[in-house]
Amino acid sequence: MAFDPELATRAWLATLSGPARARSDAYFEGGYLLLFVDAAITIAVTWATLRFGWAARLSAWAGRRRDGSARRPAVHALRFLPAYILLTTLLTLPWAIWEQFVREHDYGLSTQSFPAWAGEAAIAITINLVAVTLLFTGIHAAIRRAPRDWWLGATGITIAGLAFFILIAPVVVEPLFNRYTPLPAGPVRTAVLSMARANGIPAENVFVVDASRQTTRISANVAGLGATTRIALNDNLLKQPPDEIRAVMAHEMGHYVLGHVTKLLVALAILAALLFLFVARALPALLARFGAGWGVARLDDPAIFAPVTILLTIAFLALTPLFNTLIRTQEIEADRFGLNVARAPEAFASIAVKLGQYRKLEPGPWEEAVFYDHPSGRTRVLTAMRWKAEHLGQSDIR
Ligand SMILES: [Zn+2]
Repeated sequence: MAFDPELATRAWLATLSGPARARSDAYFEGGYLLLFVDAAITIAVTWATLRFGWAARLSAWAGRRRDGSARRPAVHALRFLPAYILLTTLLTLPWAIWEQFVREHDYGLSTQSFPAWAGEAAIAITINLVAVTLLFTGIHAAIRRAPRDWWLGATGITIAGLAFFILIAPVVVEPLFNRYTPLPAGPVRTAVLSMARANGIPAENVFVVDASRQTTRISANVAGLGATTRIALNDNLLKQPPDEIRAVMAHEMGHYVLGHVTKLLVALAILAALLFLFVARALPALLARFGAGWGVARLDDPAIFAPVTILLTIAFLALTPLFNTLIRTQEIEADRFGLNVARAPEAFASIAVKLGQYRKLEPGPWEEAVFYDHPSGRTRVLTAMRWKAEHLGQSDIR
């Protein structure tokens, strides 16, 4: 009988069924609601800091010296922002604990004790506090200099900051959370480096990340630029069969070879420009309507970080389907690249079903377009089975 990709796909998807399938669907569908709840909580907490005068009071404190004279605008911002971000972080902490710790444990996705999780959360909060403070201090300087056209400067600062973060993250940030150890010589290392050489990826080592300390999820990446190029896979992936490891690593190499990070930064620059243009036009109206009551009415007050946060949260939520589709399109490209390189469609299908542990396997088409930043399991298995159907009879296909 001829090989039928649709039938083969159905057979693969049927391997995850019953309670395991129901749990995966519930976890992922819960995420749709969380998208809206997270935004609503951010807006409500930020609104409260304005409505009750906390943002105005913090800003008044940050902007004055002991003798009552005004501080320089950049110093004002650098004192106000960390204090304000810490305040809103503490106000939303109970929700963050439920969402990131309790819920992940309920679904068996986290392996961490509470103290271990809390320690890492403290590091992440600190990094976020420093990064957002520096970023918005820069944006606020652009706002003061060009009260109408600052959105251009803000876009430049944001994309430069993001590119810098992506560049230093593998060296400076990731080691704060995990250990990277060289994978010892063996068939997996040989196979991965062979695929890398064949595809022009300048890496001489493969690193293993001890992600099982935090999570049961499988992941890998090819990160860095030029001399800092680094191939890494996590220890959850290393426990899988060799062909499945090859299938995943070939996908990750696809992101590198296809220049996905650079392309994504260009797309994000366009999106950031649109977001900031919206904020630049909406902010004066918001301040005119509510500013007097908040005690935050002037663009040269760094406390406008609060209303800017509200506007950005709304705009981000509206752009989520577009953002997801950008990423998902790159993921489909990397899937096809990976199939061409690893030539292991059955192993790729097996991994796609395993990822279905926390990503609903069979969504409707609109559901996938709006909420999925990776292809669904069904899309991935079908892609693999169609690839297989076109390569039947070739002796190296696995
Ligand atoms: Zn990917």
